[in-house]
Amino acid sequence: TSTLFSAIDMAPRDPILGVTEAFNADTNPSKVNLGVGVYYDDNGKVPLLACVQKAEALLMEKAAPRTYLPIEGLAAYDRAVQDLVFGADSAVVREKRAITAQAIGGTGALKLGADFLKRFSPDAQIYISDPSWENHRALFESAGFQVNTYPYYDANTRGVNFDGMLQALQTMPAGSVVVLHACCHNPTGADLSDAQWTQIIEVVTSRGLIPFLDMAYQGFGEGIEADGQVVRRFADAGGPLFVSNSFSKSFSLYGERVGALSIVAASAEEAARVMSQLKRVIRTNYSNPPSHGGQVVATVLSTPELRQLWEDELAGMRVRIREMRAAFVAGLKEAAPNHNFDFVMQQRGMFSYSGLSKEQVTVLREQHSVYAVDTGRICVAALNSKNIGHVLSAIAQVL
Ligand code: PLP
Repeated sequence: TSTLFSAIDMAPRDPILGVTEAFNADTNPSKVNLGVGVYYDDNGKVPLLACVQKAEALLMEKAAPRTYLPIEGLAAYDRAVQDLVFGADSAVVREKRAITAQAIGGTGALKLGADFLKRFSPDAQIYISDPSWENHRALFESAGFQVNTYPYYDANTRGVNFDGMLQALQTMPAGSVVVLHACCHNPTGADLSDAQWTQIIEVVTSRGLIPFLDMAYQGFGEGIEADGQVVRRFADAGGPLFVSNSFSKSFSLYGERVGALSIVAASAEEAARVMSQLKRVIRTNYSNPPSHGGQVVATVLSTPELRQLWEDELAGMRVRIREMRAAFVAGLKEAAPNHNFDFVMQQRGMFSYSGLSKEQVTVLREQHSVYAVDTGRICVAALNSKNIGHVLSAIAQVL
């Protein structure tokens, strides 16, 4: 007899989790997993930042009761996020045109934005970069939207297909939502230059497109301030603007699910109406966010000494990744002199589109226990001084 569940098909496996499962089952002691989306330190461990430990000690000492947070999250957190993302002295913050709600990680922020847009612009077309973080498409589709792509990565130049991207923006219907990576593009590592952003902002604004900036790696590119510039420049151009940001990577707080959705409106009055409706979206999803991660981030960002510690620790992560990029390029220059990997130094953030083919990735996995994503994406932040030698010799052999 048929039941509710008997006709349900197995959902497709998440391709990246599939890589991790295969990695876990591998008994080779030299195995390396470059398929992940997580920062590891030089010992191959996910760090617990000292600023986080200190903030947690302060919070433990307070032994505060675990009441519900407001629907939009902890006020101190939302304020600290606004100051970080837009700048405390920015016009949108001063004029109360920006609203911010704590979210369940960057993913939760994107989902809130998608659900909000579905309520108020149900027929909008959504555009994501080709390629993009896989979940962008799935999130907007699950909110009920049709999701399209705009050209982004150019495999020939290993950079951005800027002309293609600009042309696509020039033909999108007004009101379309354009999802843009604010910095450290995932999966390619290829970012736009400041001059290119100027042109993107001009087209998006003049054509009445809705920018949705996703910032999951602030501080991993050039620095906290520099990486946030794109958000500030869009905010200066006026609203409407959506910004999702995540502290999963920059605070190494993956499992605490700390992120936020900010929306910039034309006036304080408009912003208040937007916030009231965003709260409805939150209320009917999960009512209000968890408190621990938000408390930790708010404490760090608003305590000068902890803030400095965080900036130093984040700089340490950024510099270590850059050192690994340099070692990767230099090592391959030696091991595979006929190939040029200089482009890896131009890429920003945790990832590199390495240019390795699906076939090469398969051989790396089957013969060398080096795991990458089929697209050739490698996580540079998973390389360290101990495993890079094995990775370089394995890559040199498959080239
Ligand atoms: N956006 C991008 C581009 C990402 O790469 C990620 C995480 O990998 C996220 C959003 C989601 O971040 P979170 O883990 O905080 O949900």
